Amino acid sequence: KHAVLDVAQLKTYFYLNNGQVAKAVDGVSLSISPGETVAIVGESGSGKSITALSIMKLINKPGRIVNGEIALNGKEMQALSEKQMTGIRGNDIAMIFQEPMTALNPVFTIGNQITEILRKHKKMNKKDAQAKAIHLLKTVGIPRAEEIIHEYPHQLSGGMRQRVMIAMAISCDPKLLIADEPTTALDVTIQAQILDLMLEMKEKFHMALLLITHDLGVVSEYADRVLVMYGGQIVEQAKTKELLRHTKHPYTQGLMQSLPKLDEDVDRLGTIKGMVPPAYNFPAGCRFSSRCPFVMDKCKVSNPELTEIDTDHFVRCHLYENAGDES
Ligand code: SF4
Ligand code: MG
Repeated sequence: KHAVLDVAQLKTYFYLNNGQVAKAVDGVSLSISPGETVAIVGESGSGKSITALSIMKLINKPGRIVNGEIALNGKEMQALSEKQMTGIRGNDIAMIFQEPMTALNPVFTIGNQITEILRKHKKMNKKDAQAKAIHLLKTVGIPRAEEIIHEYPHQLSGGMRQRVMIAMAISCDPKLLIADEPTTALDVTIQAQILDLMLEMKEKFHMALLLITHDLGVVSEYADRVLVMYGGQIVEQAKTKELLRHTKHPYTQGLMQSLPKLDEDVDRLGTIKGMVPPAYNFPAGCRFSSRCPFVMDKCKVSNPELTEIDTDHFVRCHLYENAGDES
């Protein structure tokens, strides 16, 4: 059986005016099985969003996908024209963004925006599309759906707008849903409701979910598997429980320590020092070396490979280089 999504050695670079090259995504491989929820975690600037946009083929100049293969249900997408990709976006792959206000068109009613998708991808007539739109809004828990379809995005709360986005996302029965920081802009109480709704819809419509977040707390509750990104590369990858229990990479450990703990009434103690280096100026060697508390001499000259140190547990760090070897 095919993976829903298979990405191999993806590189997406941005060619800046001054001649510098920002290696925003630099050799990322990932695979998502049917029904699986995979999370990509990292601080902003780690390359998570560019990875998602690359999968959707939504990279614009000065950015370019310079390497890699992306397959959806076993079908390569490289060779597809922009027109063919338009048929795939929103239909086979749906995407939900952080700020629904930017993804929704302010001058069209909620009903118009949903029916437009249905008419485009499903060739429905106006009346059927309208009925289906109301049904979808009810499915995602929007009250007064018959009235809401006549309202405009700004008339809804942030949480309701994100529900509308989810209704639009599921409208064409996609096999893969990509959600990029879907709840970051929302209140904490609403965040959980929206994440629960996404998971419920994932089950109901048999989708796979690629969840992009900076929040390991979200990951621990919702993801089956986690990829941790830093400096455009995956630095650690494992099933969620394994990653949380046997955290290996110093960067992931830093993210763990910056999680607020329920039983501690203190500010974030262990927030990682320093900043994500810009993608046009990574340190030589390990890209985390400028912030790593365990940095060694060789870290400054050689970037470690992503290595499987335990079953399905991959780490990119010189500290674990000989794990599993006889020595
Ligand atoms: Fe730290 Fe070195 Fe591991 Fe990089 S390779 S994370 S600098 S110990
Ligand atoms: Mg982002």
